[in-house]
Formats: sequence, structure tokens, C-alpha cells
Amino acid sequence: MIQSEVRDTTTADVVAELRRRPAFVMVSHVKPDGDTLGAGLALGLALRGLGKRVHYFQQDPVPRNLRFLADSELVSRQVPSDLPADTLWVFCDMSDTSRAGEFLPPIEHRNILDIDHHLANARFGAYNYVLETECSTGTCVLKLLDAMNVPVTPPIATALLTTIMTDTGGFMHSNTTASVLRTSAWLMERGADKEKITDWIFANKRLAAVGLLGEALSMARVGEDGKYCWSVVDDAMLRRHGADGEDTEEIIGHLRSIEGVDVAALFKAFEGDVRVSLRSNGRVNVQAVAQRLGGGGHFRASGFTFEGSLDDAFVAARDALRAEGL
Ligand code: AMP
Ligand code: MN
Ligand code: MN
Repeated sequence: MIQSEVRDTTTADVVAELRRRPAFVMVSHVKPDGDTLGAGLALGLALRGLGKRVHYFQQDPVPRNLRFLADSELVSRQVPSDLPADTLWVFCDMSDTSRAGEFLPPIEHRNILDIDHHLANARFGAYNYVLETECSTGTCVLKLLDAMNVPVTPPIATALLTTIMTDTGGFMHSNTTASVLRTSAWLMERGADKEKITDWIFANKRLAAVGLLGEALSMARVGEDGKYCWSVVDDAMLRRHGADGEDTEEIIGHLRSIEGVDVAALFKAFEGDVRVSLRSNGRVNVQAVAQRLGGGGHFRASGFTFEGSLDDAFVAARDALRAEGL
């Protein structure tokens, strides 16, 4: 798109900025996943290797299944008070700054770098490195590391492979191109620990998560001539299984994998919010659906937070899905 080419920053200009700045804060989004966190950690580790000062800001704690990542123990909601005035704040994997939560101090526009691969990124930074065709924000970071000629160490390679495996669903989603597989092989040759990533992220479910999955699947409903499947997780369900929000991740993939289902939705009504995850098999653009309701994401995976009751959220989601051709 010509418009985004005009507004986006070139690799060379981002690299010049990374070289020029003395200090960095990597910022990841709320309800963090392996892409937002892995991308920030990979870039942070590389910049620390160049002798730069690096901090990691994240509103929410590091999810249990990502605590194997190097430097994840440094991630905090606190921001140091003695940061230099030209500290660069690097937002990873989010379409706008509100996705970082409510605990960031005011940041000058000239100090914001936005690295992302979402559709409809707001280009909120002074520097916007938005590559919509990349499978993860981590592979955007890899392009920068490559241009900077910094060594990709095994911890960096593991963080980057984590971003890919997270956002491709373990190489299952349609964004798993031949090039993504080549990049993944290259990262493994540099020491990325694929087995560790698989163990921690994909084969490490708590019993509580499996119990919750069972209940959510047993409550699933199908509508729109079998093309739409949805379910709910609420506070009472979490309590029944001793589960928390991190234990909900698997559910939506199962809903979407049902034969004939084009779109799945999971309504997460807990912690005082109604957050909705959407997944598509590629027929309906769920990014557009989420955007109608104040959220965003990708063509096949998106989400939004609904201001209102759960019942109203069902109606709003169905109306928006129909409007986008479900
Ligand atoms: P999730 O269902 O939470 O895994 O999110 C799927 C995709 O939608 C991810 O790419 C998220 O970044 C994006 N997403 C989820 N919730 C929101 C939201 N409230 N606003 C914008 N994007 C969102
Ligand atoms: Mn993300
Ligand atoms: Mn991502």
C-alpha cells in the first residue's frame, strides 16, 4: 500500500536510530504472548550485547509458559526514574499504544519506535517498522538484527523462534511459508532450542487448563448453518477448575477446528472485562470484525474488549460477523 510506504520507516533509518540511542525500553502488550515478549527480548538481548542500557516494560506478569526466555526475569511494570531523555521506547506487536495498558508514563512522540506486523497498525511512533507480510513481530526484529550485523546468539535465536512458533501456532497456520520454515531452520542452526519451546509452550498444560478446556468445549454452541462456533469462559468456570486467564489459550483453536466452522469466538468474561477472541479459517476477515468493535489483529486471528454485558457481546459479535460476510 503506497500510503503505508510513505509513512513507514526504512530498515536503514531504524537501524541508525538503534545505533544512536543509549537506552531502550522494550514495551510488550497486555495479556502478553510469545511474539510481543520474544520480539522485545530478542532485540533487548542484542542491544545489551552492544553495551546499550535496556529495560523491559510489560503491564502483566510474564506468563508461566514464557519464563524460560532469557532476560524474562528482568521484565517489570516499573519504569526506572533515571532514564536519559533520548531513551527509545520500542513497542512490539501492537497496533496502538493503548494495547500496552495503563501504567506507562507519558512518552514523547520522537522517542517511540513501533515494530509490528498487524493489519491496520496506527503508525503511532516517530519510527514505524510495520511489515504486514511478516509472520511475527520477531521476524521484523530479525530483519533489523541482520541489517545491524549483530550476532544472533542462542538465547536470541530461541526468543525469535518462539515468536514464530507462537504466531504460526507451531507451524500450523497459513502464515507458515517456505521462507518462515527456512528462517526457523536458520535460527535452529544458530542454537534456537526448538525442543525447549515446544515443551514450555505447547506441551506444558496445567491439569486446570485441560479441565477448563473440557468444560468450555462441552458448552460450545454452533450457529449460522454450522459456520460459527462459540463458547464462554467466566469467573465461575475458572474457579471450578482452579484455572486463570493463561489457561484459556488452547480453547479457541479447538472451536475453529470443527468441520464446517469458518469462524470461532471465545467470550472471556472474567476479571471484570468481556474480552473476545476470534479465529477464522480464511473465508471471513476477523480483523475487520474486531475493528468494528474497537479491537484489531490479523485476517485469521483477532480480538476485542467489549464494553457491556456478555449477552450484548454475543449480539455485537454476531452482527459484526454477519456484516463481514459470515
Ligand atoms: P487473542 O485472541 O487475544 O490471542 O488475540 C488475537 C489477535 O488479536 C492478536 O494478534 C492480538 O494482538 C489481537 N487482539 C486481541 N485483542 C485485541 C484488542 N483488544 N485490540 C486490538 N487487537 C487485539
Ligand atoms: Mn501478540
Ligand atoms: Mn504477533
